Amino acid sequence: MEKVVIIGSGPAGWTAALYTARAQLAPLVLMGQQPGGLLTTTSIVENFPGFPDGVDGYELMTRMQKQAERFGAKASFGIVDSVDFSKRPFTLVVDGEKVSAETVIIATGASHKHLGVPGEHELENRGTTYCATCDGALPMFRNQPLVVVGGGDSACEEALYLTRFGSEVFLIHRRDSLRASKIMVERTLGNPKIKPVWDSVVTEVNDVAQGKVTGVKLKNLKTGAETVLPCAGVFIAIGHVPNTNIFKGAITTDENGFIVPQRGTMTNVPGVFVAGDCADHVYRQAITAAGAGCAAAIDAERFLAAQNH
Ligand code: NAP
Repeated sequence: MEKVVIIGSGPAGWTAALYTARAQLAPLVLMGQQPGGLLTTTSIVENFPGFPDGVDGYELMTRMQKQAERFGAKASFGIVDSVDFSKRPFTLVVDGEKVSAETVIIATGASHKHLGVPGEHELENRGTTYCATCDGALPMFRNQPLVVVGGGDSACEEALYLTRFGSEVFLIHRRDSLRASKIMVERTLGNPKIKPVWDSVVTEVNDVAQGKVTGVKLKNLKTGAETVLPCAGVFIAIGHVPNTNIFKGAITTDENGFIVPQRGTMTNVPGVFVAGDCADHVYRQAITAAGAGCAAAIDAERFLAAQNH
């Protein structure tokens, strides 16, 4: 029987682990499909306090894990198949094995949103990707025209990163102004290799018949004009969807699948807490996820104390 099981190992998960470990609750952290979470796919994180020169995303997550483990957090590569929150202790099926938990902290984060256009899925890893830092340096993208889709901080970050490899980077955005933070907008639009394509959406990724990306079909939303833009890679950065499918029916979510906390970080199930991007469609920062992880840990600790543990 575990006192605290934390599902997810991003900034929310590891901060919850640090706090519950220091409260001597020996939390079990189920690290999931992407240990360290989405931040491990970022190159330099410039806005996490305490790192004036920035810090590599992977390094930041490794440090968080080490810090939590130093106080007794237990890391497991387990992936949760299903949960039963209908009675306490809760039951989680992890890689086919049952785990019992007195409290659970959900910190499962979010995944990349897909465009849902023809060719996108078929050409994944053949030119379509969701992570410039993971794939940008591949030979197939070198000195080739590349496309980034989106208008937020992620799209700007991807476009800037890709200027190292591509001959030019087209930033396709469905409106005529970027949603990204001011500093990122300035850097992006000030880069001579980045060419914004406003008011436009990708309607198809070419060319499935050739088995590789050769271009994208674009539609201008203002004029209706359709064009083909030749490119060797499409980097999609249009936001995220929460990783909450396994909790459907067990935990209250909003219409987009984000978990809705009821009191503090407690969900509709007493003893199940939530932190980070799986419950946050507003702030979505590493530091806010870490803060929520801390809050969830304190809430879980108080909940256990109230049950006379
Ligand atoms: P985001 O801010 O939600 O931006 C998503 C972008 O994709 C928006 O411009 C949106 O257009 C566009 N979009 C959404 N669905 C689309 C669709 N189906 N087709 C075409 N375009 C679509 O997501 P994000 O950029 O991943 O950022 C998420 C959070 O992480 C934000 O809070 C951001 O500040 C943060 N972040 C920060 C940094 C940094 O500080 N360096 C880096 C990365 C992320 P509209 O604008 O028209 O809605």
